[in-house]
Amino acid sequence: MLTEPEMESGAVSKRGIEIVRGSGAHIWDADGKRYLDMGASYGVCNVGHCHPRVVSAITEQARQLVHISSSYDNPARRELMERLLEMAPGTGGRVFLSNSGTEAVEAALKFAVHLTDRTGLVAAKRGFHGRTLGSLSLTWGPKHRKGFEELLPKTTFVPYGDPEPLKDAITKDTAALVLEPVQGEGGVHLPPEDYLQAAADICHDRGALLVVDEVQTGLGRTGRTLAVEHSDLVPDILCLGKALGGGMPIAATILQEGHGPVARGTHGSTFGGNPLACAAANATLSVLRDEGLADRAEALGHRLLLGLEALEDPMVREVRGIGLMVGLELKRTAGPHLRGLMDRGIGAIPSGATMIRFLPPLVIGEEDVDDTVAAVKDVLGSSQNGGATPGS
Ligand code: PMP
Repeated sequence: MLTEPEMESGAVSKRGIEIVRGSGAHIWDADGKRYLDMGASYGVCNVGHCHPRVVSAITEQARQLVHISSSYDNPARRELMERLLEMAPGTGGRVFLSNSGTEAVEAALKFAVHLTDRTGLVAAKRGFHGRTLGSLSLTWGPKHRKGFEELLPKTTFVPYGDPEPLKDAITKDTAALVLEPVQGEGGVHLPPEDYLQAAADICHDRGALLVVDEVQTGLGRTGRTLAVEHSDLVPDILCLGKALGGGMPIAATILQEGHGPVARGTHGSTFGGNPLACAAANATLSVLRDEGLADRAEALGHRLLLGLEALEDPMVREVRGIGLMVGLELKRTAGPHLRGLMDRGIGAIPSGATMIRFLPPLVIGEEDVDDTVAAVKDVLGSSQNGGATPGS
């Protein structure tokens, strides 16, 4: 029998562990070993694995209707659109539903080009917006782009966090500036407080749209339902994905009131707005609200940040983050330490070569945070003594 890595395209880097079950902040491998999922599968499982309300919403919807194209109306989809428009800053608008973060960004790009009748795009250095060819054009990392140039031709990059270069970069040909409120994949970078609003003002001065990519920061992750709430920003277009479906694939592109409707046929998606995913998303949004998970992310994120800072380990270059989006930048490669953590039952994720990143389910407890800090201390300490795995 072939193993999964033997059949997979080769594009995906594998951990060599088979996960068969999840509950709350924990996952179990085929041998019954339990791991604390401090990466939440790249920031997807904000409400935890198999949240009972998400599971029952999926089960009930599956009995009613698994799929119907978005050319028909459907109550689960209508409810989700209403909730998203209520949640998004500003005064409502329009929603396009798709299946992944990169698709949410692709839709935003097409809508921005369509609505402004311009083709220029501006994005930030170190930014990440997806891996399909349109969103890849705005993804900065050479590791992702290598071998795929030329991408969308009229794309320029500016340093993240400084509004000054935007004044030259955004011109009368610019359809949109695309930014993350906190850069995730690029290494957990927070901009200065007034950066996003300054960027919005420059865009609007020049007739361009501001697209805010909250695929990673959205839905409680940074201590607010949306990260733009930290700065009262109203984006022209907002992208959501990852955590929206409580583990089901769903993403949303939300146009602020006044931008849209777009012309019929501008975009489409066969599975976008699938009722099963919409039902899961409705339950997920209810859990986020009823369990106060954004506040929990703020409090526990603070505890994690302080705990990691207090290690004062000489191998640590910097600890930074907001809410439960925390990065531990090392002075050496993170890979062996990530493996060391996994051996100790803590599943964290990388961000570049030297960062250990934590994007846990927002349902983790204080003891989980403390266990993580203790495991990091152990891993860093044992590697100073010559090895990052227990007993080595
Ligand atoms: N935008 C951001 C900010 C992301 O972090 C990601 C995924 N890491 C994406 C877009 C792409 O999402 P997906 O992998 O679901 O296509």
